[in-house]
Amino acid sequence: MRIPFVDLAAQRATIASEIDEAIRGCLDRNDWILGQDVAAFEEEFAAYCETTGAVGTDSGLSALDLTLRAYGIGPGDEVITAANTFVATALAIVSAGATPVLVDADPKTFNLDPALLEHAITERTKAVMPVHLYGQPADMDEIGAVADRHGLLVIEDACQSHGARYKGRRTGSLGHAAAFSFYPSKNLGAYGDGGAVVTSDERLLDRLRLIHNYGQREKYVHVVKGFNHRLDTLQAAVLRVKLRHLDEWNAARRRCASLYSQLLGQLDTTTPATEPSAEHVWHLYVIRVGRRDELRSFLGERGIDTGIHYPLPIHLQPAFADLGYARGRFPVTERLVDEVLSLPMFPELEDAQIHAVVAAIADFGAEVSAPVADRMEAFAGPKDEPSRAA
Ligand SMILES: *Cc1c(COP(=O)(O)O)cnc(C)c1O
Repeated sequence: MRIPFVDLAAQRATIASEIDEAIRGCLDRNDWILGQDVAAFEEEFAAYCETTGAVGTDSGLSALDLTLRAYGIGPGDEVITAANTFVATALAIVSAGATPVLVDADPKTFNLDPALLEHAITERTKAVMPVHLYGQPADMDEIGAVADRHGLLVIEDACQSHGARYKGRRTGSLGHAAAFSFYPSKNLGAYGDGGAVVTSDERLLDRLRLIHNYGQREKYVHVVKGFNHRLDTLQAAVLRVKLRHLDEWNAARRRCASLYSQLLGQLDTTTPATEPSAEHVWHLYVIRVGRRDELRSFLGERGIDTGIHYPLPIHLQPAFADLGYARGRFPVTERLVDEVLSLPMFPELEDAQIHAVVAAIADFGAEVSAPVADRMEAFAGPKDEPSRAA
């Protein structure tokens, strides 16, 4: 039995006629740029995220970048974000001209450790950009409290958390603004690139609408030097169809995750702790194992595809050498990159496939981890250690 890591064809099979009809609508209307599906999607997605507005963009990276620019964050400013994230989070900060300041992960949840946040703040800090990694909301109360004390903006990187809730509220509505990606394999994915900013800040919405479309409100009158980062109308048409299925797909992911957890629990494999007050949407199902690379090849030989999110942390990426962070600076993140393994996870994944994945892990004799908290404590370092490069 071959088990893919994600299966977008299986999902398309369930919605093919709806998608075809939506795309045909654009074709028939000859409707391509900022068309009616873009406006409708923005309204529907904002309502879904419990914000007053949304602006579609051409990627998650540009959604983050434009949000920073729209808030006037740029050269000389610092933005604090997670060391344990996808590169786009840090790239957006650099692209806006600001400096990323990284904070290590909480060894229990793998999300940004709020206890380290305050030490990363300087007089140049303008915003905190927490990431809801793997679909699990970051500790937004703690992060919000620190941000409030220092007058900082909170911009959510919600690119992995479409539909997730924290204390009953949707991710996307938990800070001043939030960025989503609709990369095809995200929980809500287009058939190409796409993204959105959601916010209830009307001034920000106005500014974003301006700068994502050449700085014009009126055609050929450019009031600021803008960009072309618009969401494609065809993608908006696809996203409108898929948004109607998102809750049902997230529920299916949750069922898959709980079966994994139940079966893996018998093997004593470590997974990130889930916050009881949060509704995780399981963009990824991640385990930690000692002989990760060996296990990954073993599973691969049996036809089971897996992923590593992420194999090299931002501060050790060649492109970010100029930030000046040395190896050893973020011990939790550095440990995770060697031990995390993402198992197949998509809404159409069948129980039998989950059983097969776990059986294969059992066969390998997966290195059994002690509870994360115990193992990580030894190398997590003191909590009051400042989190930025000297
Ligand atoms: C996917 C992702 C992004 C960027 O999304 P793109 O649409 O690929 O630009 C940003 N941050 C995180 C955490 C992501 O997972």
